Amino acid sequence: MLLTTLGDVTDLDAQDPLAAYRDRFVGTGSGLVYLDGNSLGRPLQATAQRLATFVEDEWGGRLIRGWDESWFLLPEVVGDEIGRICLGAAASQTVVGDSTTVLLYKAMRAAAALRPGRTEIVVDRDNFPTDRYVADGVARECGLTLRWIDVDTSAGVTADQLSEAVCEQTAFVVLSHVAYRSAWLADVPALTAIAHDAGALVLWDLSHSVGSVPMSLDAWDVDLAVGCTYKYLNGGPGAPAFVYAAARLLDDLVQPVQGWMGAHDPFLMGPTYAPAKGIRRMLSGTPPVVGMLALQDMLALIDEVGMDAVRAKSTGLTEHAITTTAELLPDTTLASPRDAERRGGHVTLNHPLMREVTEELWRRDVIPDYRDPHGLRLGLSPLSTSYAEVERGLHAVREVLDSLTP
Ligand SMILES: *Cc1c(COP(=O)(O)O)cnc(C)c1O
Repeated sequence: MLLTTLGDVTDLDAQDPLAAYRDRFVGTGSGLVYLDGNSLGRPLQATAQRLATFVEDEWGGRLIRGWDESWFLLPEVVGDEIGRICLGAAASQTVVGDSTTVLLYKAMRAAAALRPGRTEIVVDRDNFPTDRYVADGVARECGLTLRWIDVDTSAGVTADQLSEAVCEQTAFVVLSHVAYRSAWLADVPALTAIAHDAGALVLWDLSHSVGSVPMSLDAWDVDLAVGCTYKYLNGGPGAPAFVYAAARLLDDLVQPVQGWMGAHDPFLMGPTYAPAKGIRRMLSGTPPVVGMLALQDMLALIDEVGMDAVRAKSTGLTEHAITTTAELLPDTTLASPRDAERRGGHVTLNHPLMREVTEELWRRDVIPDYRDPHGLRLGLSPLSTSYAEVERGLHAVREVLDSLTP
């Protein structure tokens, strides 16, 4: 007998102060159950108009004049907005450009250069693949060694584990704020302080937390951070990433892709490279202006709602998914933290058949993600997901599991 009835869920949506925001996204009126907004957020309806207007008025109307009028500074303008609305970062420390992978590379090389003579990069074995691969490449280029932290794939890096891994040889540490598999929410200030005590820097990957979990990068004494904008910031497929570097590091920050757009005076077209003052030096080539349009709409929406309210809805959704799972899917195991304080915006459920379950769910227009080993990952994008949608998704999982098990 199920304790959760449809009536309860209707109540949860009726009591949700953010429920109405769901209607602002494209496609939420259809029957599709979308539980992968942490991989690719839904577009806002406002974005369709913004894109059309951009083509007609800005690109088509202003042409090359657009660079002088606004596009040139857009990476810093949008970076400051991300910093203010989502990161707890004062202006002039965040810039948008490149992909997360490329910015990870630049930030890791910058971190290595800030700690000359040190020989190790610390990274955990369950960090996102691109973070591990880039760290491996940077280690080889710079003659450094990787020191691995083994982690529980249902949890993440703890203070004790990091304390054991860092030493006077650590140049920098690479960690994710929210683990892409388990949703483990790392204790950023505590872990950063541990690395700092060893004289090391930390590069935080915020891809799975930005726009979902509030943060205070300045107050937490964070050194460097990067993050995606196409997940909880709904910037669209391939939208550019952002990088944050603390103001105290900026004068000494050097990155390896010395392009003209990150140079002190790009239009001087001088014989040699001198870095721009401040965070702009993390740029390399022409900024992806079209790629920042959708992002601006989502930032405006999050600004209107406020990150604390977004987090409250996010926690409500993940908590509801977990309690419903306990009743409805007792044959699965929770591979995410049970404590909401240690959990980001998604929930992973393990069962030996989850790969097959995910394939069948996609055929039924229920879209979660699959992550090895045996994990069904439910990404609950706070402003575009309803409690009823979560409920429909979990009932579909029950039906599919029943159909696959004798
Ligand atoms: C999604 C994600 C990325 C993606 O990097 P791209 O360069 O955009 O492909 C990187 N790191 C983490 C932790 C992610 O979750």
